[in-house]
Amino acid sequence: MAAQEFKIAAIPADGVGAEVVAAGRAVLDALASGSGGRFSFSWTEFPWGCGYYEKTGRMMDEDGLEELRNFDALYFGAVGWPTVPDHISLWGLRLRICQNFDQWANVRPVHFHPGITSPLRKADSTPLDWVVVRENSEGEYAGLGGRNLAARGPGNEVALQTALFTEKGCERIMRFAFDLARGRERKKVSSVTKSNAQQYGMVLWDEVFERVAADYPDVETESVLVDAMSAKFVLKPEDLSVVVASNLNADILSDLGSALAGSLGLAASANLNPDRLFPSMFEPVHGSAPDIAGQGLANPIGAIGSAALMLEHFGLTEEAARVRAAIEATTAAGLLTPDVGGSAGTDRVVEAILANL
Ligand code: ATP
Ligand code: MG
Repeated sequence: MAAQEFKIAAIPADGVGAEVVAAGRAVLDALASGSGGRFSFSWTEFPWGCGYYEKTGRMMDEDGLEELRNFDALYFGAVGWPTVPDHISLWGLRLRICQNFDQWANVRPVHFHPGITSPLRKADSTPLDWVVVRENSEGEYAGLGGRNLAARGPGNEVALQTALFTEKGCERIMRFAFDLARGRERKKVSSVTKSNAQQYGMVLWDEVFERVAADYPDVETESVLVDAMSAKFVLKPEDLSVVVASNLNADILSDLGSALAGSLGLAASANLNPDRLFPSMFEPVHGSAPDIAGQGLANPIGAIGSAALMLEHFGLTEEAARVRAAIEATTAAGLLTPDVGGSAGTDRVVEAILANL
């Protein structure tokens, strides 16, 4: 069989992004060199981010999207730095990539690791594992609205922030969620809205959910309001398998999920273009963590878990499982970074994960 080469664009960007992307690369390269020539990764690193912005006035090259288009995947660190306004850094790089490459499905597993204490009492005994599927192309982050729509005088400004829901957008993310649920042990999809208070978009969401659910009679379903779902994450997480929600709701819920698992530094994510017309992007959920950047203390597990999602995307499911097992063996042995109560640095955790591979 001919060796497969996967071309990956690495975009470490800001803060701990560089540290955790290096960690994920080390794990992927170790897998490749142990694959007996079955597959390999070729890396191209892009220097984009807030430092680049300060030098050039741009978060990424003007033709950066063209530069990225032909990669098999993008491996992203984190974007944002205190010297650059968040809406500039986020929209100038990460969201620009997500939108232009139509990465409409954001997959964020919530996974509890052995050896890591969760704020949930039950986490120690029950292995909890569910996935938040986030609609990543419209909803509350459609960028629609404006300020000063009418000149009402000082102190009376009005701002409008519009959420956009399309039937097609809702349907494709729901089918994605149902297909994902079919591949899991617990075949269940929970849909999250606030349709009691938001009577247009969220009601359309509910209607499409019901229609799509009818095509998946083998999958259990429920519709839960986002406030109730927040409580459920804490009180009854063993009842969850796949949770599908709009851009904003899923953003908040997945941060809650990663905090429940023990740290933001543990959470992995994939921004997928399921149609495979454009490259998908894999990145930890956490931000650039300026408070610990450059100190070698960042938890690499979120980024390495994201690399595992990338392996799955490439069809290397066995290798992805090996990476997850190596992570678990490491946390179970108590080799942890400070955010999850340990005293090991990034490098030591990565070394242990490599040894457990
Ligand atoms: P963003 O707006 O980009 O989501 P944020 O301001 O919400 O970023 P983060 O940069 O993710 O926040 O940091 C939030 C907290 O989590 C900080 O205290 C940070 O140190 C911690 N944190 C984030 N990522 C990691 C990591 N990989 N390892 C350890 N701690 C982390
Ligand atoms: Mg955040």
